[in-house]
Amino acid sequence: MARPGNKIIQAKLVLLGDMGTGKTSLVLRFIKGQFYDHQEPTIGAAFFTQILSLTEATVKFDIWDTAGQERYHSLAPMYYRGAAAAIVVYDISSMDTFIRAKKWVQELQRQGNQNLVMALVGNKSDLRSHREVEAEEAEQFAQESGMFHKETSAKTAQNINDLFYDIAKRLARINPPRSSGITLNHETQDKRKRFCCLG
Ligand code: GDP
Repeated sequence: MARPGNKIIQAKLVLLGDMGTGKTSLVLRFIKGQFYDHQEPTIGAAFFTQILSLTEATVKFDIWDTAGQERYHSLAPMYYRGAAAAIVVYDISSMDTFIRAKKWVQELQRQGNQNLVMALVGNKSDLRSHREVEAEEAEQFAQESGMFHKETSAKTAQNINDLFYDIAKRLARINPPRSSGITLNHETQDKRKRFCCLG
């Protein structure tokens, strides 16, 4: 339950990044605590909700997990428009995905939303023996771009909860208190829906 007197923040969160970087796996690890070695590709986008209670606020995330394929690129603005937070994901074992992540960051910056909480996430940190992207390089790019950086592993769960808590905390800091009549509960609501072009 939301803590009495606690502010409630409803936040749209979008995940962007190349196909195969682990966006769906990150979300499923966060909301269900599960990981699948053979995760089905996302078609179009998938929607999830999850609630996080902090001392200072209760954050209700509306999570849009977008497909990374180039052919869906034109749909992306629909998902990041109006977003309070964005997670741009690359795979630490693929330099190509990091280059693509930088393009997503530039696209988000062109939207000019100063309050957008942006996280640059190097997923698959368990694959460090295949590392192509150094953490320092990503960290520096994140700092220059006004975002924070984390390396995660949806497979081992490393840093996954931290990532979402960090985003929630940042949202709580920038959101003015707002009263709401709705009652929220802690249950995970896995309202996964597929949009567009069901395959
Ligand atoms: P998406 O296309 O970005 O949503 O990526 P998926 O979540 O579908 O993951 C693509 C593939 O990478 C799947 O086979 C996952 O099992 C795998 N994967 C996702 N996250 C990790 C991770 O942290 N470590 C490893 N080793 N594999 C991962």
